[in-house]
Amino acid sequence: MQPAWPHLRWMTSPVPQSVGTVHLVGAGPGDPDLLTLRAARLIGAATLIVHDGLVDPAILALAPATARLVCVAKSRSRHTMPQNDINALLVREALAGRAVVRLKGGDPFVFGRGGEEAEACRAAGVPVQVVPGISAAMGAAAASGIALTHRDAASIVSFVAGQCKGLSDQNWAGLAGQGRTLVIYMGLATAAAITEKLIGDGLSPAMPVAVIENATRPAMRVLRGVLAGLDTLVSLHRVKSPALIIIGEVAAREQAATLAQFAESVR
Ligand code: SAH
Repeated sequence: MQPAWPHLRWMTSPVPQSVGTVHLVGAGPGDPDLLTLRAARLIGAATLIVHDGLVDPAILALAPATARLVCVAKSRSRHTMPQNDINALLVREALAGRAVVRLKGGDPFVFGRGGEEAEACRAAGVPVQVVPGISAAMGAAAASGIALTHRDAASIVSFVAGQCKGLSDQNWAGLAGQGRTLVIYMGLATAAAITEKLIGDGLSPAMPVAVIENATRPAMRVLRGVLAGLDTLVSLHRVKSPALIIIGEVAAREQAATLAQFAESVR
């Protein structure tokens, strides 16, 4: 149907303004060499980068000197911007016509709340593009020489969040055990509860575990033990975030040569 006053339409419709795109970019586990080419290109050309606390300073250093860097640190101890405020910031900047690089540790869609940010942008009419990154599990596996799957040891691998709403209500039964590898993100603070939960599900207290702190970074540490000693391993060595816990037979396979080579390559 024709509007009553078609010649007046220009007065009522909003002034057309180009909306910026939000790129949700995975920064990988730390080593800048593990960025995708697309991520490196976007960071190198960015005017505005909104990043979380996990993004390594060496990666932020790839941004042009003129780029505006906004830190919305996600850490249990440091000040954190609430997720709704982060969503609002991305939308506001994009609607103002600015291209936004939203830089996240690892992969944006693995425990990164990237899904929520993408939804908020789309709901506001802001175009979103996702650039995958190497998730901490892949980085830690490569850097520690622990194969997440192995024909002789594991053909199933699961990623879980140790720090999540209602850990005790989460059903992890069947995720760990013979032939399976369980990778736990954000599990340091709940290591004791995790051990109890898994042993309660019938997992052997002697199941091998590995804790990888600062995977792919120069300060990386790899600690090995068994499930019953996980909490002690974490506290004795004062393991700090970011760290991953790998539980399964693969964690005990001797990969010292790979580990030494990786340490050499990050030097
Ligand atoms: N999106 C990220 C995960 C964010 S949740 C990814 O795909 O990797 C944050 C958790 O990731 C940390 O608590 C830690 O468990 C893990 N993590 C991230 N970077 C890490 C690193 N370099 N070494 C070990 N664990 C890491």
